[in-house]
Amino acid sequence: MTLTRREFLKTAAALGAATVWSLHAADIARVFSAAAAGEVHTIWFQGASDSGCSISLLQGARPDLIDAITDFKLSVDFHPNLMIPEGDAAINVLRDAADGTQPLDLFVLEGSVPAGNFGTVGEIDGKPVPMETWIKQLASQAKYVVAVGTCAAYGGTPGAFPNPTNAKGLQFYKYEKGGALGADFRSRAGVPVINVPGCPPHPDWITLTLADVLQGFPPHLDSYQRPTAFFGRVVHDQCPRLGYFQQNQFASKFGDLQCLWKLGCKGPITYANCPAIKWNRGINSCTWFGSGCRGCADPSFPDSPTSPFFKEIEAVPAPLGIDVNMVGETIAAATAIGIGAHALRRFARKGRQKTTTETAKEGA
Ligand code: SF4
Repeated sequence: MTLTRREFLKTAAALGAATVWSLHAADIARVFSAAAAGEVHTIWFQGASDSGCSISLLQGARPDLIDAITDFKLSVDFHPNLMIPEGDAAINVLRDAADGTQPLDLFVLEGSVPAGNFGTVGEIDGKPVPMETWIKQLASQAKYVVAVGTCAAYGGTPGAFPNPTNAKGLQFYKYEKGGALGADFRSRAGVPVINVPGCPPHPDWITLTLADVLQGFPPHLDSYQRPTAFFGRVVHDQCPRLGYFQQNQFASKFGDLQCLWKLGCKGPITYANCPAIKWNRGINSCTWFGSGCRGCADPSFPDSPTSPFFKEIEAVPAPLGIDVNMVGETIAAATAIGIGAHALRRFARKGRQKTTTETAKEGA
C-alpha cells in the first residue's frame, strides 16, 4: 500500500512523535524538502535546546504538520534535525538568510540564546559562529519572529539559576523584558517576538500561531507577548478539579481525585489552555490525569515560583474567593522586582481583608 504524505504524517503522529523521530527522520526530511517549492521561507533555528519543541510540533492536529506545509505554502529552508543539506551547504542557507540574499518570512527559534561562545553553530572562515550572532542577524531580516518554547521565549531550563551561560529568551529573561534582542525589537513587519511558551508547547499552539502569521494576521498578544487565544486564562480556571478547590478538598497523595494544589500544582499562576484542549490529540492534560500543573508555560519556569515542583507555593491564598488571575499577576510582578514571598504574604493578607470588607459591604 502506498501512503500519501498526509496519511504518512497522520500515521506518524498516531505512533508517537519520539518514535517517529528516530525511525522516520529521513521520510520527514523528504516531506520538508518536497515543500521546497513553497512561497513562505522559514528558518527553524535551535539555540540551547533538546529538540523537544520540534518533537511536539510533529504531534500537531489542528492543523497538522502537512496542512501547515501545504496549505500555508511553507518552505522550511533550514531545520537542524530535518533538513537534507549538511556542512557548508547548510551553513550557506543560514548565511544567505542572515545577509538578506534570500528573503526570510519567518524565523522560528527553539531553545534559549546562550551568550557568546557558550553555543556555536557551524564555522565561517574556520571560526565557530556563536548561536547568538546567527539569531540576532536572522531576527533582523525576518518578517516575523516566533519563539517556540519557554527557553526561546524566557530563557527556560538553560537560563535557570545559576544560569552559567547567561542564556536568555529572545525578548525576555523570565518576567523581565529585554532578552537577547532587546525590549524595543520589532520584526520587519513591525511586530515584537511572538512567544509560544511551554516545555514543550502544545503542538496546536505552534501550528495555529504559525498559521496566523503565515496568513498575515499576527495574533493578539498579552504583556508577555503570548497569544491570548491560548494563554489568556490560567490553567486553574479551566481545570476539571476546580470544584474540589472551591470546596477546600485537596489531594493528600498522587492518585487522589481532589485538587492537587497542596501537592504543588501551579495551575493558579500558569496561563495556558491545556485543560480545555488537552494533549495527545485531546486525550489528557496534566491536571486531568493527576500530576498537577508544573507551570512549564510560565516565564519563571523552572525556577521559583514554579519550583519546587511538588510544594505548594508559599503564602498564595487558600480558596478564599480571591481571583486567581490576580494571584498569578501578583506573583509575576513580585518576582520581576525581587519582592518574593514577603510581598505575597502581604498580598494574601490584603486579599483576605478585601474579601472580608467586600463581604461586609454586601451584607450591609
Ligand atoms: Fe486544578 Fe491545580 Fe487549580 Fe487544583 S490547583 S483546581 S488541580 S489547576
